[in-house]
Order: sequence, then structure tokens, then C-alpha cells
Amino acid sequence: MPRHDWRRIRADERPVVPTSPHGRFSLALAYANSYHIGMSSLGFQRVFELVHQAPGWACERFFTDGDGMPLSVECDTPLASFGAIAFSISFEEDYVDFLQMLGRAKIPARRGERGPNEALVIVGGSCAMINPLTLSEFVDVFPLGAAENVLPALLAALAEESDREAVLERLAAEDGFYVPAHHRSEDRTREERLKKLELSAEQMRQPGHLPTTAIVSPHTEFADKFLVEMSRGCPEKCKYCWATFGMGSFRWHPTEFILEAIGRAREVTDQLGFVATAVGDHPEIERILLEANDLGFRTSVSSVRIPAVTEGVLGALKASGDRSITLAPETGSDELRVKLNKPIPNSVLYEKVRLIFRHGLTHLKLYFIIGLPEETMDDVQAILEVAAECRRLMLEELAPTGVIGHIHLGVNILIPKPYTGYQRETMEDEATLRRKLKLVKKGAAALPNVSLSTMPIRQAVWQSYITKAGSDAADVLEAAAAGESIASILRRFADRIEPEVFDRAPGKLRWHFLRTG
Ligand code: SF4
Repeated sequence: MPRHDWRRIRADERPVVPTSPHGRFSLALAYANSYHIGMSSLGFQRVFELVHQAPGWACERFFTDGDGMPLSVECDTPLASFGAIAFSISFEEDYVDFLQMLGRAKIPARRGERGPNEALVIVGGSCAMINPLTLSEFVDVFPLGAAENVLPALLAALAEESDREAVLERLAAEDGFYVPAHHRSEDRTREERLKKLELSAEQMRQPGHLPTTAIVSPHTEFADKFLVEMSRGCPEKCKYCWATFGMGSFRWHPTEFILEAIGRAREVTDQLGFVATAVGDHPEIERILLEANDLGFRTSVSSVRIPAVTEGVLGALKASGDRSITLAPETGSDELRVKLNKPIPNSVLYEKVRLIFRHGLTHLKLYFIIGLPEETMDDVQAILEVAAECRRLMLEELAPTGVIGHIHLGVNILIPKPYTGYQRETMEDEATLRRKLKLVKKGAAALPNVSLSTMPIRQAVWQSYITKAGSDAADVLEAAAAGESIASILRRFADRIEPEVFDRAPGKLRWHFLRTG
């Protein structure tokens, strides 16, 4: 996108609460991906809103679109003119874009090479909390926790301290911040570990803690949708899932705050999306969906836990005009699902799938993971059997109504992430993964009205490496930022990457200097 296109983007934006880009203090708020992806992130929108709520503060947004010096969406201000840049990074694959944005702004990528007058580079978001070490050569400050809890101390330090060293020293002494220049040793006892400041259940019961879309835009993944967070954490503890281990216990936002927020947003849009790791587990989900329908919203929800699919939820979704739903069985066989710590049998899945199509929903997305510990080829074959049975149920329920439905299978490869039940596991070897993917592709191609998307093995290896890497990954990331292809990097640095990805992880987990939520 050429730089001058921000004018068109700005013209199409509809702020839920108007803000001004001018304040006594100013922060650059950057997302290391396109406007389309960044403005789809509720976390990014939440930080934008909270900065503007802080007395005297304003921020301007930056994305990867365009060439040369990144310019702000608000005023075309150059990124390099800000004293502090706060990046929000939710996906490890954006690390390369993060470095490229710094390069385009002519800001030295390595923190050790930045002078006293150069911008302070801050990185928050889930990647900082999963393992900040991978980026620790590049980042001055990692806020660890919910924006509501870390922004006050961060903004106060930026406003009150006279130079970058004083800011770093002050934040290093606060809970909720990892400052690599000051926290040199990752070798800490349990008591000394750096504390993450998650949003507590008690905070969520207070007003002012509900993340919602600040600016509605047609140019996002969720075009024109007002997004509302329903809850945090998850009642389940699936072994591979960072969201449940990293985000603390399951807690939800009070219904009255959610209803009040959507009531306000109705003046701006009639498109609504509820997001959370476990949307359907909000104790008043049915009431909320029905009230959203009464307000005239067309509503969708992010993936629903299988047990949380009820007639009430489906009826309300159908009435709001939504025709699709996403479930995550993860495995084909009951036995492997139990080992994954998700003891939901296929019989329950089939009951829910029948219910989904019976209620007139026509599009079902099913997510699976391959490469799980102890997984056999029979387990992979079982994914196809589940797909075939769901398709049979779809035809049985929809054919009499004259509608043709669709099932999409999303098959990912296990990336063993820090702070999950699989953090000590390694990725499955490439030859076995290739055989498994071949089986899935062949089987899915034989099922009419069933589509398939799979994760490329190369992408999984790269992600596996950078999610668990230490500061010694800096030169590998720099090579990627300079334009070297991932295939070439995986070959050139194979002696460093392959032991990290495929050999048994050492007993000591390098990211454990952070306390869990
Ligand atoms: S049900 Fe979903 S969100 Fe909950 S732990 Fe399992 S994978 Fe994570």
C-alpha cells in the first residue's frame, strides 16, 4: 500500500469514542504487520484506547504497509520522530516485520547500538509473555501483563524521567517489566522470578476493564465489526495450549458491562463479534446473544468449546444471521484426546455437530493438530473418519432443507510452546510429518464439500525455533529481516536450529525466569 493511502483508510474509520492524536506526551503504537491484521487485534485496539485515556497522552498508529519510513495513520508522522515506540506482537512470525520496521525507520535494531537520543523500543503482547528472550537483543523494555496493569507505570516513567537510561532503571525496579539491559541473569530462584501482571478476576468485576474495539474499520479481518472480549483463560487445560496455561484461571466480564458496551457501539455499527479463548463458557452467553439480536446486531463468535455448544447459543447465532461455527476436536481418536487432556469423546462431538446443522448453520470449521506425542498413523486416519462422520451428519440434517453445507478442516502441526504441558517436548521429525500430511490431504480430497488447509512443515520448524529461542537467535532473525528466505536460513543455521527444534529439550527451561499468571 503506498503511503498516501492512509487518507482513504482514515476516512473509512469510525471511532467508537473520538480521540485526538495531539497530547502533551506522545507514543508511537506499532503493530508488526499490516493495518488489516493489526486493527483486527483487540489487544492493539485496547492499548490505543488506554493510552488516550491517560491524562495528557495521545498515540499514533503504525503498521507495515507501504515502503520507506513508516508513517502514522493519524498524521503521516515519521516513526523515527517518536521518543518511544510500543510494539504489540501476538505472533512470533511477526518478529521479522518488527526488525524490518525498525530498519525502515533507520533505528538501530540492536538495543546496545542505540544512542541516548534514539527511540526506546518497547514490545508487549502475548509473545513477550511466552518467551521474551528471542527478541531480547533488540528490545529495551518488555511489559509483562495486561495493558491495564502495565501502562500506568510505563507512561509515568516515559513522562517523568529525563533520559532513556533513567526510564530503563526505573522500569527494571517495577513488577511487570523485563528490561534485558538490567535483568542480565535469567537464572533466578522461584521467589526472584519476574512477575507478570495479568488482569485479575476482581479487576474484571470493576468498570473500565472490558476490552472492546476502539475504532471500527471496514479494512480489517473482521470488517466493520465491534469486538468485545467475553472472558480470559479457559476452564480446560489442553496440554498444548498457551492461552490456558499462560493467561491464568478462567474468569469472565460481567454481563452488564458487555451489554452496556454493545449498546454504545450500536450507533457505530450493526456487526458484532465476541472473542475469547472460551466464548461459549460465559455463564450468560445465551442472554448476551439474545440481547445483541434485540439491538439489531449481526453477531459472530470465535471458536466455541465443544461442551459449550447448546441449543440456546445456536438458536441465537442463527437468529442473528450467522451461519458458521468453529470447533476444535484437535485429534481424531478419543484415546489421543484424553492424553492431550481434552477428555471429550467423539460421541459428544457428533451430538453437537448434528445440533449445529439441525439449527440451520451451514459452515463448520474443525481444527486438528498433528505431530502430538504418542500419535500414530491410526490416530491421523481417525481425523479423516471424524471428518467423514461430520459430513454424513451434515448431509442428513441439511439435505432435506435443500441446502448444501460445507466443512473446513484446519490441520496444524504441534509447536511445543513455553509454559504449556508440552514445553519440554520437541517437534516431530519432518519425514513422519510429511507422511501424516500426505495421508490427511489424500483422505480429505476424497470427501466432497470438505476443504482442507494445512500448516507447511517449514513454517512449523521456524515457529518452533523462534518461540523457544534465546538471545543467540538475534543473528538468525537479522538474516531473515535482511531478506534471506526461511528455507535458506533453516539450511544455513541447521546446526543451531535443529537441536533446538528436534532434540529433547534440556531440563532447564530458559524462559522460566518469568512467573506464570
Ligand atoms: S479448550 Fe481451547 S482454549 Fe481451552 S485449553 Fe483447550 S485449546 Fe485452550
